Amino acid sequence: MNATRIMVVEDEPSVSEVVSLYLGKAGYDVISIRNGQAALDELEKELPHLVVLDLMLPEVDGREILAWLRQRSAVPVIVLTALRDESDRIDGLEMGADDYITKPFSPQELVSRVRAVLRRGGGATAPGQEGDNSQSLVYENLQINPVMRLVIAQSREIDLTAKEFDLLLLLARNPKKVFTRSQLLEQVWGLSEYIDPGTVTVHMRRLREKIEVDPSDPRHIETVWGVGYRFEP
Ligand code: CA
Repeated sequence: MNATRIMVVEDEPSVSEVVSLYLGKAGYDVISIRNGQAALDELEKELPHLVVLDLMLPEVDGREILAWLRQRSAVPVIVLTALRDESDRIDGLEMGADDYITKPFSPQELVSRVRAVLRRGGGATAPGQEGDNSQSLVYENLQINPVMRLVIAQSREIDLTAKEFDLLLLLARNPKKVFTRSQLLEQVWGLSEYIDPGTVTVHMRRLREKIEVDPSDPRHIETVWGVGYRFEP
């Protein structure tokens, strides 16, 4: 089976059923899980191509699952949240979720978010689909391998979230080009209208802390004051 596997972690049966039904109809292989501990057990056995994760779960909270995943993999995660509180959504994104959707949502919208996240290259790239974009980028003290989603800085392997990696790759593939925060939101998150532009600032700060020798005087990721960011090779 070459189908893209999606794990749906959601304890509310009605939501879980409708989400699984629509994703199944869209051609995905769906694994439906109802509680947090079962999700961790299943993830330890095999990682899916994408996880749809409810934050409020019995036994093990969705945040713990997200943190667990981010310590180990770049599997894209779409967070489901009933919480209207902006800070919760920002928390999810800061913890490395690739997107979020607020309940109640339309199942079609979730399916299109899933497609968008997978298209952006979360981890479900089939062999042979990388094309010209599979080549490693090598700069002074910094190497980026797009296929393995691996970054080496100062001879150390760097642990980046999916979003941090996508941001770095976009900038590094376009050296010296200035990107505004809304361009970065659009190209990396794909949903500029839903996300606070401050999210970009937060991700850039973390990225610098991880890859720069001196994050306060960055060598590669430069701020262009009043405009945005650019990559200096
Ligand atoms: Ca729930």
